[in-house]
Amino acid sequence: MEKIRINSCETHIYRALDEVTAKTENFPDMEKIYTEEELSTVCDYCAQAAIYVVSNT
Ligand SMILES: [Zn+2]
Repeated sequence: MEKIRINSCETHIYRALDEVTAKTENFPDMEKIYTEEELSTVCDYCAQAAIYVVSNT
């Protein structure tokens, strides 16, 4: 199965969830980012800091 991982800010979390759901036809995993390293991650849809990672694993 294809591995999908989308970084998302608060604004785009539903879009990220929708996209992973559509691609995998399963409800995705949603993890909040806590570590400092990951806190510098940027949202895949805009330039804001990502606070969630949506994946299908
Ligand atoms: Zn965003």
